[in-house]
Amino acid sequence: MHGTMKVLGRADLHMHTTFSDGWPSPTQLVDHVIRHTDLDVIAVTDHDTIEGALRAADRAGSRRRLQVIVGEEVSSRDGHILALFLERRIRPGMSAAATVNAIHEQGGLAVAAHPFWRTGRQVRSGPVHGVGWLAAELDFDAVEVENATPGFYVFNRLARRLNLGLGAPEIGSSDAHILDAVGRAYTEFPGRSTADLMTAIKRGETEAGRSRYRAVGLMRYAAWGFNHQRYAVAAAR
Ligand SMILES: [Zn+2]
Ligand SMILES: [Zn+2]
Repeated sequence: MHGTMKVLGRADLHMHTTFSDGWPSPTQLVDHVIRHTDLDVIAVTDHDTIEGALRAADRAGSRRRLQVIVGEEVSSRDGHILALFLERRIRPGMSAAATVNAIHEQGGLAVAAHPFWRTGRQVRSGPVHGVGWLAAELDFDAVEVENATPGFYVFNRLARRLNLGLGAPEIGSSDAHILDAVGRAYTEFPGRSTADLMTAIKRGETEAGRSRYRAVGLMRYAAWGFNHQRYAVAAAR
């Protein structure tokens, strides 16, 4: 062994509750994380609302075991953007650039979620989920290079490749809509707290990782049905 041993914390910064299209309630989500995972930090990021995140933060309360970041997955006109460390909701429907600005205005961090996720062919009128190459052009604080949604292998590869050139801080997150998915992708960072995590993102000291699904988890995900469509936004007109 050489060098100093660093305490590494583990975070899952992208998950959904019943306040958008997730299955678990904020309470079920927090209780599950505490009982069944080794996550130190989570961000609850429902589509276009922070209500679920606020409830999850309440549930975690002052328990030392887990800290909850109030987040939102904002449906910008150009694709989904994760907003972390929010005080107020960011409204959907703005351009990606305006969304990133609005997040920064309240001291939050903006993450390009699954930047290369496109459903179907890349027709101009089709739904856009990720911001694509805007991840490189705008002032994002981090790029989600691992997203644990089943079937995202190629999208993750593309995101990693983009980020090789970009060198932005990397995030791994589950995008969990069911409890089995929680922590299947994660972000490791020096320290344990939300403040440590924020520092690590700003310094580019985060590392994205993966852990396998249990078979039953994949079956439950199939049952959930990848029902993201409701939150898809129209591509460039
Ligand atoms: Zn999304
Ligand atoms: Zn999501």
